[in-house]
Amino acid sequence: MLVDITPVSKIDWESKGARAYSVPFTSDGYWARSRMPLYVASSGKPGRTIVAIGGTHGDEYEGPVALKNLINGFDADRLVSGRLIVVPVFSVTAFYADQREAAADGINMNRAFPGKADGSISYRMARFLTDEVLSRSDVVIDIHSGGRGFQIVPTMSFHSVDDPELKRQFKETAFLFGTPFTMIYTSSMGTGLLTEEAEKMGKITIGSELGYGASTDLDGVRWAQHGVLNVMRHYGLLDEPVEDLRLPDKWGPAQRLVQNIDIDTWVTAPIAGISEPLAPLGAYVTAGTPVARIHDFYRWDEPGIDIVADQDGFVLCRKFRAKTEQGDVVMVIAREVD
Ligand SMILES: [Zn+2]
Repeated sequence: MLVDITPVSKIDWESKGARAYSVPFTSDGYWARSRMPLYVASSGKPGRTIVAIGGTHGDEYEGPVALKNLINGFDADRLVSGRLIVVPVFSVTAFYADQREAAADGINMNRAFPGKADGSISYRMARFLTDEVLSRSDVVIDIHSGGRGFQIVPTMSFHSVDDPELKRQFKETAFLFGTPFTMIYTSSMGTGLLTEEAEKMGKITIGSELGYGASTDLDGVRWAQHGVLNVMRHYGLLDEPVEDLRLPDKWGPAQRLVQNIDIDTWVTAPIAGISEPLAPLGAYVTAGTPVARIHDFYRWDEPGIDIVADQDGFVLCRKFRAKTEQGDVVMVIAREVD
């Protein structure tokens, strides 16, 4: 059944039961309206509000697929407290154009927060999410993948925070997904991040990287879909035991918390060329180990230039597309922390 557009003022956030909405956003340059999918399932009782978002970047598919599966398989009568809010595809025009930035206005939705009521369509969508969705939340899950750009080990993520109790809650929530790695990262690579905004509002906020290459990863979809259910179990929305989602045969039983918040230690290309990884994803490397090589094919009679790790740690991600510009990040190495 196609869902009619729903003015924001008509969204029922509170009543018991589940509802699917298409929230309209008027296009900037012509007569049209983009529809943002929104799902609200409420127990009608007090409790936590869990928000799950996919498609903040349009070429990252694990989140949208997992959340669509979750919504369509979910019976709201299972809710014993609180509320689930899902935006399976957030940057709608980016998603349909199979690209990172919104096709409508070229904006990277994960740099558009907190949004602007009088901005272009992406800024207005961000403003809606901030004012109407994040404000109602207790826990925010923003599901990302590597997109076209980066191949990343399966990882949940959260920002570095000073408050140890908040960090403990972030870690506990992220580990419910069962991924082999959880990364503490820095927001210094960009501003206007969705997760940064949610954190500022005091919400338990986690992100993820659950696939790469603008594909749909089997394990990534499973972690995203069942991880959100685990978060609902943990916070009392579902009266069910938490499911063990680890994949020990592939990644071992350990769930590692790793950190790289110093962008000066990210491995960047000294010249333009074709990049070659010298260490596999997930491997532990020590400082001084060559981890990537850049080949200049205009100088094909010379060996490539090796780049060495400048710290011990796990190879967390690598540049997926071989063609590399000078200064591109080709690898991120992260050390294990408590
Ligand atoms: Zn992303």
